[in-house]
Amino acid sequence: MFDSLSEGLQSAFKSLSGKGKLSEGNMRDGLEIVKTSMLEADVSYSVVQDFMDHVTEKALGKRVLLSLRPHEELVRIVHDELISILGPVDSSLHLKQEGPTIIMLCGLQGSGKTTTCGKLSQLLKEENVKPMLVAADLQRPAAIEQLHVIGRQLDVPVYSEADNKNPVKVCQNGIAKAKAEGARVVILDTAGRLAIDEELMGELQRIDKKVAPDQVYLVVDGMTGQDAVNSAGAFNDALELNGVIMTKLDGDARGGALLSVKHVTGVPVKFIGTGEHFDALEPFRPEGMASRILQMGDIVAAAREAHRIVDEKEREELEAKMASGDFTLDDFKGMMEKVAKPGLMGKMMGLMPGMGQFKDMMESDEAAGGIRQTIGAINSMTMAERRNPKVIDVHRRTRIAKGAGVQASTISQLVKQFEQMKPIMQSMMGTGVGDRMKMMRQ
Ligand code: GDP
Repeated sequence: MFDSLSEGLQSAFKSLSGKGKLSEGNMRDGLEIVKTSMLEADVSYSVVQDFMDHVTEKALGKRVLLSLRPHEELVRIVHDELISILGPVDSSLHLKQEGPTIIMLCGLQGSGKTTTCGKLSQLLKEENVKPMLVAADLQRPAAIEQLHVIGRQLDVPVYSEADNKNPVKVCQNGIAKAKAEGARVVILDTAGRLAIDEELMGELQRIDKKVAPDQVYLVVDGMTGQDAVNSAGAFNDALELNGVIMTKLDGDARGGALLSVKHVTGVPVKFIGTGEHFDALEPFRPEGMASRILQMGDIVAAAREAHRIVDEKEREELEAKMASGDFTLDDFKGMMEKVAKPGLMGKMMGLMPGMGQFKDMMESDEAAGGIRQTIGAINSMTMAERRNPKVIDVHRRTRIAKGAGVQASTISQLVKQFEQMKPIMQSMMGTGVGDRMKMMRQ
């Protein structure tokens, strides 16, 4: 996401660095590159223009031109400006104290509304809030069944009426049912079209007027670039939007549309969708996004991801083992099995500062094969060997290698690396790095 933008900005800043004092002339060259990269990243022209006006004014100030590290000052200015146009932060669903909160999702067909219904339900369930889904997309033949499938997967009730052709009525009946069953949130999955048309807008306006939802969210497909911006404008004119959810920000590089959609609608970006699974919905954080744009990385997001896959108790046990030097090859294997999930290593690398370039390498078959081999080698060892690999002699090394289908040298290398790693882990845990890592995860 935002790859071309961050690459462009990085080269812009590189061209500014190392030149000693800046002149207004070469600062303008750098700013020109920033502008081109934003346009390439699919940020719409008027937004880039606005953005550049603000940044240029600040970048040409005396303080920046005279500073010793002007490129760092420019990074800071661009970063702050990105945060300011991406903000404010508001990923609250603004749940009411009394009665169900009605959330209406709208957007073009295929934007990810139905999937997002599932993702929001999962989020609410994690907070012990009872949701109910209402199938108000009566246009797309399979939409009702799709919502029922999601409901069954997540164990969330779905309200639908097979023969009712009036979406307003279906929503009203669904809300009555939700009230009767004590659901705290009702999510209306409304119809979309392939392109915006008056009939669709009329239908949504009728639901909006008669049902009076508490929150109306526009779901936009982040992969469609300028189309996303145009449709956002049309929905924003027709409805009183409360927020935007941008989906599919896991796949495409030109995520700059997010900046434009924010600019066009003026409402907060609530969440971003980063995958097809129900847990792939992240509260939107402008700082994280701005940092990603600048390739400074988002360590907090990486730490959160790690936090999600290793539970608290397990982590504390591992940290204690590392600190005391009791960390075994078996523990090492356990950690590898956790992070060796498809896509996760690459994702984590992509979030680290300057590590974006290694992302593809970590996703490669070679890397996955290496991890599999290491896990296989550890599996071929006895428990005593896993606890203390120093006891592995030449004879055992050959046997283990044979069992795992690798060279004997691979086993010696693994043992050597593990022995080297242990004291490093121990000192890291002992010098408070563990505590700092803990703080970062919070
Ligand atoms: P709707 O027509 O607006 O209800 O769209 P759907 O919810 O049916 O989604 C259309 C397609 O987009 C489906 O294949 C979803 O799996 C996919 N999708 C939805 N959200 C995301 C996302 O955040 N990332 C990715 N990669 N795919 C998504």
